[in-house]
Amino acid sequence: MSDAQQLFTGWGRTAPTLARPVSTCVHDVAAAVAAAGPRGIIARGLGRSYGDPAQNAGGDVLTPLPSSIDLDEATGLARVSAGTSLHDLIRAALPRGWFVPVTPGTRYVTVGGAIATDVHGKNHHRDGGFGSHVRELRLVTADGGEWTVSPQQDGELFWATVGGMGLTGVITEATVAMTPVESPLLRVHTRRVDDLATLMALMQEADRDATYSVAWIDTLARGRHLGRSVLTTGEHASADEARARGGTGAGVPGDPLRVVPPVVPSGLVSRTSIRAFNELWFRKAPRDRRDELQGVGQFFHPLDGIADWNRLYGPAGFVQYQLVVPDRAAEVLSVVLERIAERGHPSFLSVLKRLGDEGPGLLSFPLRGWTLAMDLPAARDLEPLLRELDALVLGAGGRHYLAKDARMSPETLAAGYPRLAEFRRIRDRVDPNRVFCSDLARRLDL
Ligand SMILES: Cc1cc2nc3c(=O)[nH]c(=O)nc-3n(C[C@H](O)[C@H](O)[C@H](O)COP(=O)(O)OP(=O)(O)OC[C@H]3O[C@@H](n4cnc5c(N)ncnc54)[C@H](O)[C@@H]3O)c2cc1C
Repeated sequence: MSDAQQLFTGWGRTAPTLARPVSTCVHDVAAAVAAAGPRGIIARGLGRSYGDPAQNAGGDVLTPLPSSIDLDEATGLARVSAGTSLHDLIRAALPRGWFVPVTPGTRYVTVGGAIATDVHGKNHHRDGGFGSHVRELRLVTADGGEWTVSPQQDGELFWATVGGMGLTGVITEATVAMTPVESPLLRVHTRRVDDLATLMALMQEADRDATYSVAWIDTLARGRHLGRSVLTTGEHASADEARARGGTGAGVPGDPLRVVPPVVPSGLVSRTSIRAFNELWFRKAPRDRRDELQGVGQFFHPLDGIADWNRLYGPAGFVQYQLVVPDRAAEVLSVVLERIAERGHPSFLSVLKRLGDEGPGLLSFPLRGWTLAMDLPAARDLEPLLRELDALVLGAGGRHYLAKDARMSPETLAAGYPRLAEFRRIRDRVDPNRVFCSDLARRLDL
C-alpha cells in the first residue's frame, strides 16, 4: 500500500484536504480497515456529496469497490457491490425491464453512497428514500467483522447505516429491490408557473397524481414573480407508448460529454450570467406541454450530460444549501426565497421537491414537507445569510441535508436531528474508538 497522499474535495470543491487513498476489492476491506492509522478511515463513493463527508484529512480514504451487478430478472432483486454506480446499474437493468427504485439528480453516485446518505428522488412522496428499498447489506465494522444486516437482522445497525454517512462501517454489498418498468422512457408534463403559491398548490396536487415531480425555481425573481418556476412531473411510459413514439433506443442513458476544461477562470459564474441563464431557462420552457416522451438521462439527470460541470464555478467552488421544512411551516419557503433574492446571492440551480414521510434511518434527511436546494457560489458574505436561514429552518421544525452540507455547525445538526443520540449510541456500540472518521464527522462532532 502506498503512503502517497491525494487531495480530496466534495462536489462543491470547497475545503480540500489530503488523505491516503486506499483501493481494495470486496474481500480485503477488513484488512484495509485494520490497517487504518490514528486518523481513521472513511469510505468514498464518486464524491458527489457537496461537502466533506467522503474526505478524511491525514487519514485513509477508501475509494469505491469494483463494480459488480447480479440482477435476478424474475424478482428484480439486484445484488451489487457498494462501488457500483447507479449509472452502471441503470444501464444494465433498464433494457431488462427494471429501474432503480430511487435516483438522485445525478446517476454518478455509488450504491454505497446512496445508502450512506439515504438519497431521495423525485418520487420520495410515493416511494421513500433509497434505504427503504435495500433488502439487506453487507457491512464491515471496526472490529474487522463482516455482517449481513437488514431491517430484520440487527435492524438497529441497519437503520443507523442508512443515512449514517459511512460512520458505522464500510458497506461492501447490497441487495436492492428494483422497480419494474415497461420501457426506458418517461411520459413528461412540463409547465411554466408564475409564482410560488401556484407552484405549491400544483405540487401538492402532484403528490396524489404523479410518480415523479420536481420544480426548478428562479431564485432571482422577486415581488409578484417570487417563486416563478418550471414544474415537471413524470410517469414511466408503457411499452405501447414507447413503440408508438418511435422506439426506446434513446431512453437508456449514455456517457457524458467532456467539455469543461480542468481550469476555469473565476468570474465565469457571476450575478449577470446567472440572471441571464435563469431568464433563458424560464422562457425556453414550454408554457404547458403534456405527454412528451423523455429518456432517463433527460428527465432525471439533465446535468449529467456535461462531465465536471462543477468546475464552472471556478477555484472558489460553491455550496449547496438544502433544507426541508414540514408542511405546517410552508411559509418559511417564501421567506427564504425573499432573503436570497434581496441579498442578491445568485443560484443557477434551485430545486423544490415534495418529500413524503420520515423514514426509519436515524440520520436520514427527509421529512414530510418541502425541500429546497440551491447551488450558491462561495462568497465572503454568504455565511451570515446562511446562518440566518439555518435559524429560520430550525425554528420551523426543519433540518439540513448532510450530503449537501459544507458549513453547518454541530448545534445546527443537533437541533435538526432529534435521533442523533440514538445514532451515537449505536455507533459507539460498533465503533467505540472512532475508526471510521471523516472531515464532516470532526466538523460536526458526529
Ligand atoms: C448534481 C447532483 C444532484 C444531486 N441530487 C440529489 C438528489 O436529488 N437527492 C439526494 O438525496 N441527493 C442528491 N445529490 C447528492 C448525492 O446523491 C449524494 O451525496 C450521494 O451520497 C453521493 O454518492 P457518492 O457515491 O458520490 O458518495 P460520496 O459523496 O463519495 O460519499 C457520501 C457518503 O457516503 C459514504 N459512503 C460511500 N460509499 C460507502 C460505502 N461503501 N460504505 C459506507 N459508506 C459509504 C461516504 O463515507 C460519505 O459519507 C446530488 C448530488 C449532485 C452532485
